[in-house]
Amino acid sequence: MELSNRITHLTPGGSDGWEVFYKARALKTAGEPVTELTIGEHDIRTHPSILDAMHVSAKGGHTGYAAVPGTQALREAVATRIQTRTGVATGAENILITPGGQAALYAAFNAICDEGDTALFIDPYYATYPGTIRGIGGVPQAIPAYPRNGFQPRAEDIEEHAKGATSLLINTPNNPTGAVYTRDTLQAIADTCIANDLWLISDEVYDTQVWDGSHLSPRALPNMADRTLVVGSMSKSHAMTGSRVGWVCGPADAIEHLINLATHTTYGVPGYIQDAALFALGEGTPLEDVVSAPFSRRRKITEDLLAKQNIVKGCPISGAMYAMLDVRATGLSGQDFANALLDEHLIATMPGESFGTAAAGHVRVAMTIDDETYTSALQTLLDFAKDKAS
Ligand code: PMP
Repeated sequence: MELSNRITHLTPGGSDGWEVFYKARALKTAGEPVTELTIGEHDIRTHPSILDAMHVSAKGGHTGYAAVPGTQALREAVATRIQTRTGVATGAENILITPGGQAALYAAFNAICDEGDTALFIDPYYATYPGTIRGIGGVPQAIPAYPRNGFQPRAEDIEEHAKGATSLLINTPNNPTGAVYTRDTLQAIADTCIANDLWLISDEVYDTQVWDGSHLSPRALPNMADRTLVVGSMSKSHAMTGSRVGWVCGPADAIEHLINLATHTTYGVPGYIQDAALFALGEGTPLEDVVSAPFSRRRKITEDLLAKQNIVKGCPISGAMYAMLDVRATGLSGQDFANALLDEHLIATMPGESFGTAAAGHVRVAMTIDDETYTSALQTLLDFAKDKAS
């Protein structure tokens, strides 16, 4: 039997730079002591107080179908959080609760992208972006943001592809680069969206992990609230990756349609998960700080170690849980560097090439293991680079 083109073409197949990751996982399964600096998953687990709230809710009977758009209380809490952080008037009618940010991305594209529409996104990119766009029949078009510009996209590069496109997807703080887009970058993006009548999807799942400057949601820029869908999630901010709870924030009429989509796809998010998320948001920034503190510490460790050598260049780690390291001075591609580092030292990193073309010659390090092991693994990486460069 034939499967649909849509499903069989979701991911292009062939080499996509993820081989190092799979090799590392296989080695680990075989019992090798691999140090994994690959995936964006905290080394701490969901805070016990959040689990208590989940437990109380489930025991209290919130195990049946929950309201499809999200519980009124959680929609209101998310709306309040966004309004407080951005100053943009936001109510429950602007919020759809989703099973995580990934489902929010898929829903957002469903709302704005028809079959054959061109959807722009920035390279380097989070791995699922092109597949998400293909999944709803859109045509993904990457726009490079270069290391020499600190991985900040430039308006002229977006402009070049904007004609005929329907939407632009951005992500700040950024995975995989650690860049936080400046006000100027975001204003230029907003101007380009308005001039070319593009929807903007703003993936802000790392909005609590900012080390330099501050997070600015482009929805808050003049005339952007009506053309922006913000994707948010509890995964990164509250170490709730496995709970699968996030949201889309956007114009009420778009959300109205997205509720309809949710009825036909997810049928909502479990009530006890939503109650746990509500509790977690109620704890405010102190709890978010507990979750983000390890990355802030490891960012400092990274910068200190990088400063002691001159082979590997760091890109500014302004936000999120990653460091993008420029290893071009070794003469190796990111992929060859990552492969050799795994083979020779059992340290797994992600080749820059697995995030598109713009981060070629780089490796991404996820700062997601304990400080001591992280420090030693990074030092080994730097010594290895020095060795290769000489
Ligand atoms: N966007 C970005 C940039 C991400 O890095 C991730 C997860 N790694 C997601 C969205 C999806 O996260 P989740 O579905 O867990 O909310």
